[in-house]
Amino acid sequence: MKRVNGIGVSPGISIGRAFVIERKTMALTGILLQGEAEKKDEIEKFAHAVKASIEEVEGLKARAEAAREREGIDILETHIELLGDPQIEGDVTVKINEEGKTAQDAVIEVIGSVVQLFKDMDDEYMSGRAADVEDIGNRILKHLQDMSETAGSANMVSGISGAGGDRPAVSKPGGFPQQFEEDTILIAEDLAPSDTVSMDIKKVTGFATQTGGKTSHASIVAKSRGIPAVAGCGGELRTIVSNDTIILDGLEGVVIVNPGPELLDAYLAKREAYRQNGLLLLSLKDIPAVTRDGTSVKMLANISGPEDMEEVFGQGGEGVGLFRTELLFMGRDSFPTEEEQFGFYKKTALQSRQKPIIIRTLDIGGDKQWPYLGLPKEQNPFLGYRAIRICLDRKDLFLTQLRAILRAGVFGDFRLMFPMISSVQEIRRAKQVVAEAKAGLVAEGIPYVENMPVGIMIEIPSAAVTADLLAKEVDFFSIGTNDLCQYTLAVDRMNEKIRDLYDPFNPGVLRLIRYVIEQGRQHNVHVGMCGEMASDPLATLLLLGMGLEEFSMGPSSIPAIKNILVHNSVEAAKVICKEVMEMDSSQKIQAYLKAHLQEIRK
Ligand code: PEP
Ligand code: MG
Repeated sequence: MKRVNGIGVSPGISIGRAFVIERKTMALTGILLQGEAEKKDEIEKFAHAVKASIEEVEGLKARAEAAREREGIDILETHIELLGDPQIEGDVTVKINEEGKTAQDAVIEVIGSVVQLFKDMDDEYMSGRAADVEDIGNRILKHLQDMSETAGSANMVSGISGAGGDRPAVSKPGGFPQQFEEDTILIAEDLAPSDTVSMDIKKVTGFATQTGGKTSHASIVAKSRGIPAVAGCGGELRTIVSNDTIILDGLEGVVIVNPGPELLDAYLAKREAYRQNGLLLLSLKDIPAVTRDGTSVKMLANISGPEDMEEVFGQGGEGVGLFRTELLFMGRDSFPTEEEQFGFYKKTALQSRQKPIIIRTLDIGGDKQWPYLGLPKEQNPFLGYRAIRICLDRKDLFLTQLRAILRAGVFGDFRLMFPMISSVQEIRRAKQVVAEAKAGLVAEGIPYVENMPVGIMIEIPSAAVTADLLAKEVDFFSIGTNDLCQYTLAVDRMNEKIRDLYDPFNPGVLRLIRYVIEQGRQHNVHVGMCGEMASDPLATLLLLGMGLEEFSMGPSSIPAIKNILVHNSVEAAKVICKEVMEMDSSQKIQAYLKAHLQEIRK
């Protein structure tokens, strides 16, 4: 038996047989083209391979759409965009035309250097995107290979072994099998994002990879498709051979190879308990989240578009606490028009069963940078030109979005929310633009919602400590712990190197949260939370004890949080909160909350 430790990136337990995915690198052929006709031929081959690749990814995307796999759809859209990237096309063409390279060699070299560029980036999220570029490179190469095989010319694919030397090479294309046995657990150095989107999860019940982490696309897809996964296992994973018996524990981040009968039995029981617990939690779906002592708590969901609404109601969500509108602005080369935005928001409203939707205005900048935005390169993008700061500066963009939201609100129950607010003056300026948007709509005789409630995200410390002042300006607050935590602790939320410092249970963060909730209550301003902390079971009773009455989270987390709420009382939560707020370290706080959670789970 062998135990390999990694990072649990998608929860759950799988038991099955290993299937080891071998990665072979595809060497450069080193062939040099003779004459213009050959070059023209190769350019055409490249164009065909790109076209076939796009069609293939469109097919995968249609499948992901049918299965409503949001993350998968987003990733495949990025791939389609990358496949059509004019820079890549231009560079490949230059290599063929000016250097006499074959299409295959040109693709290997161009993709290889883009992959390296991403890998060299300090930011873990950005370096993780190398897998996407490699993925589309492999796809193009696979089609080039297919074409040359059909043409009967073997030299393109056999290559000149070793001719690549230290020249760039990408993984052998087409190496990902399409058919698997039941209960297969994939073992790989890394998985291409599109492989995780397309794999048959009736057969493949989990995977472990040597590289990757929580923000790798393969991990994100695993989580959204509900299959356990462990990433970042390192070279030890190489000792596994196909058909080894594997226990994959995505909860603890452990891979156990060829376990003994006792351990196997223990894990079979653990897997069953996990499944039963999931079913039990889902059975709470239609029960309102009311605590034992009768306090009603709102369970809302975070969404990115209309496709998410079915999942919201499927998990027992009572509405939307955060509609991140950025999705519509991604994967394109210009801003969406008012009509496009109106259509997108209206579609969401029509799916909402007239339940409340808190729609957040554009939160771009920071980690969300797209070329067409033309945002300047900044030393500290998270502290820079971002969200409401951009909107107040670029009134044209802001007005367009506000008009679309006000119009779409007619079809549902929208509440308008501004991100990244740091002062009373910003709220006033934003509301002034809302007034302008309304005046324009009145003048044009276009129907819109006149009395849409207006709220703000509390995610900057200055907003938290002036919650009493801000409360006089708005109808509601929503605490964004993701940013509040990074700004309070001066810890970049994307920087994996300092991830241990990123800690919502830090007493400083907790004091700010408590203050916001107290001030909201005093000033009759409704307070919710839409940051990740709202979905952390460890925090649930503490937040309830602080007086939080609205939790908003990814839909799949709703049942587990509701389960804690309905089995506890505000009275008991207040006692927990009082004790916690006297503690001086996150370690003590978390240990105390963990003990409580275990107690109530017994
Ligand atoms: C937050 O900051 O907590 C939040 C919900 O916003 P985002 O994660 O979109 O920045
Ligand atoms: Mg935020």
